[in-house]
Formats: sequence, structure tokens, C-alpha cells
Amino acid sequence: MTTLVFLEHHGDELQKGGLGVLSKAASLGEAAGVVLGPGAAALAPSAGAYGATRAYACEDDALTAPLPQPRVDALAVLVENTGADTVLFASSVLAADVAAGLAARLEAGLNWDLTDLAVEGDELVGTRPALGDTVLATVGWKGSPRIGLFRSGALDAVETGGTAEVEGFDVSFSDFSTLASLVEQTQEESSGPSIEDADVIVAGGRGLGSPEAFSLLEELAAALGGAVAATRAVVDAGWYPYSTQVGQTGKTVAPKLYIACGISGAIQHKVGMQGSGTIVAINKDPNAPIFDFSDIGVVGDLHQIVPTLTELVRARRAS
Ligand SMILES: Cc1cc2nc3c(=O)[nH]c(=O)nc-3n(C[C@H](O)[C@H](O)[C@H](O)COP(=O)(O)OP(=O)(O)OC[C@H]3O[C@@H](n4cnc5c(N)ncnc54)[C@H](O)[C@@H]3O)c2cc1C
Repeated sequence: MTTLVFLEHHGDELQKGGLGVLSKAASLGEAAGVVLGPGAAALAPSAGAYGATRAYACEDDALTAPLPQPRVDALAVLVENTGADTVLFASSVLAADVAAGLAARLEAGLNWDLTDLAVEGDELVGTRPALGDTVLATVGWKGSPRIGLFRSGALDAVETGGTAEVEGFDVSFSDFSTLASLVEQTQEESSGPSIEDADVIVAGGRGLGSPEAFSLLEELAAALGGAVAATRAVVDAGWYPYSTQVGQTGKTVAPKLYIACGISGAIQHKVGMQGSGTIVAINKDPNAPIFDFSDIGVVGDLHQIVPTLTELVRARRAS
């Protein structure tokens, strides 16, 4: 079983999601990382620390913009050259497009929203939550290559300390793959880690009462070195950016600590954060469903509790 894992990078950093998928693939068999675009050659060796025996890098100009079609060309070439029977991705806006494009190009089967992978006999089987995450379905592939797209945050990146042999490769791009161009790219200003990468998340819901109250959460997150997330209710209301939404139609996160402030704990929110290490809920309603799956529950008004908590954290850090 030879597996290629698409390792997305932003700037000079490989994304945690792809490294998590690589760790899982390497624990099951031989796995190689694929890094495409500017800086790929310098980043590829670090795939070895997550279990890759080999890493492929291509920095062709056609891969400079984060567009899917040239990446489909590059991966199709690699599948052909290496005879890889499996290509895996961690979900992101870019990776989902590349995975779908590659499946179409190679007429291969794509299983998406996977949360786990295992080898049973000679077969590779994936786990995929279904019916609002109330059941776990076992899924497989009928042909080769098998293409799998993992839910973000589903797998931990585990450093094993190995080294990867790096190989560059050339791609002859299809005309139709280079027709799209990137008109503009802007970056959201952020002073802390993203919610996918943060070890601590302070999340806010409708109980905040107003968009301004998010500043309370930002201060607590800053004191803890964490990131701020939100429920769909407040994101839909325009209180906080969509990129911070956690849940069924948002992101799946698994920080070490998740502090839910003024969040009721609807199933659609729960599925996006239930994998967190420790869940702390602050809610003024003692019967709020979130207390059913929290490790620590605080019943009270978040407007009083959160600033007090922030002061305590700052005092502890200063001492
Ligand atoms: C198809 C579908 C997909 C969805 N996807 C998502 C998703 O991805 N993510 C998501 O989050 N939701 C999602 N939802 C919406 C979800 O069902 C809930 O409506 C939403 O999560 C509720 O958000 P909330 O907890 O902020 O608000 P509410 O349910 O209104 O809860 C607010 C909570 O704040 C508490 N509160 C009020 N004032 C205070 C105070 N001063 N101090 C402390 N606590 C206070 C209240 O007791 C209450 O429990 C989806 C729904 C559907 C139908």
C-alpha cells in the first residue's frame, strides 16, 4: 500500500491537518508527503518527522497561486509515476477542490468527511460520521487509487522523528488547468493562532448579547494564548467572522481546552467541538444542554465570570 498525502502549507508552515493525516497514513503503511508551490522544497524534509519516508516537492510557477487545477495535474503525475494506490487530504477549501478534481481526473472513488482510517485484512476502511454525527459509518473503496478527504481536526499530528528523502518532480500542465488566475488575495488580520491550530479556544454564543461582548472573549483568549471561536447563531447574525464558526456546517476543532461562553450546546455545535480535551461551559441556565457534555460547568452570567477569569489568568501568568 503506497499512500500520497497532500501537505498544504501557508507561508513557511505545513498545516497541522495534513500532518495529522500523514501521521495516520504512516502508522498504517508506507506514506509519502506532497508539498506543492512556493517554498515546497524547503518544507518537504519536515514531512519525515511525521512518518513520511519520502516527500515530493514541486515549485513550478503554475503552482504559485493557491488554485486547485494545477495541483490536480501535479498529483495525477505523481500517482502515475509512483503507482500510489491511495491519495489522502485534510479538508480545507483548497484541498477539497483538489481532491474532487483528482477523483474526476482519475475516475477514482472519493470518500470525504473521514475521521479515521484503518487496515482490515487487505482492505483500507475509513470511518465517516453520518446522520448528524449520531452514527459512524464504515466506508471503503472499490477501485484504485483510493482518494480520501479527512474532516479538519480529526487526526493528531504525531512527531515520530524520522527523515524523508526529498524528490523534486516536473509537471506538464494541461492548458485548461492554467486558465484560472488569482485576482486578489487578502489575509484576515489575526494576532493569535487560528482555531484549527489553537490549544485553547474561547468560544462565544448568543448569550454574549452583543457583538461588542466578543472583546471579553478576545481578552481571555489572549491571556491564555488561544483563539476565539463562535456558534453559527452569532456568525449568522454578523457578530463574528464565518471563519470562526465551529460545528456541523463550520469547523471541527479539538483543542486541549474549550471554554464555551453563552452557548446552549446544540447538537450541530457539539459535533464540531466534542473532541476537545477539557470542555468548560459558562451558562446562566443550569439546564443548558452544554452541561451534559462539559467537564466543568459554571452557572452564571458570563459578563461577570469571563472578566474575572481573565484577571485570574493574567495574575497567575505574572506571578
Ligand atoms: C443544518 C444546521 C446546521 C447547523 N450548523 C451549526 C454549526 O455548524 N455550528 C453551530 O454552532 N450551530 C449550528 N447550527 C445552529 C444550532 O442548531 C444552534 O441554533 C446554535 O448552535 C445555537 O447557538 P448559540 O448556542 O449561540 O445560541 P442559543 O442556542 O440561543 O444559546 C444561547 C445560550 O446562552 C445562554 N446565555 C444567555 N445569556 C447568558 C449570559 N449572560 N451568561 C451566560 N449564558 C447566557 C443561554 O442560557 C443559552 O443557553 C446549525 C443548525 C442547523 C439546522
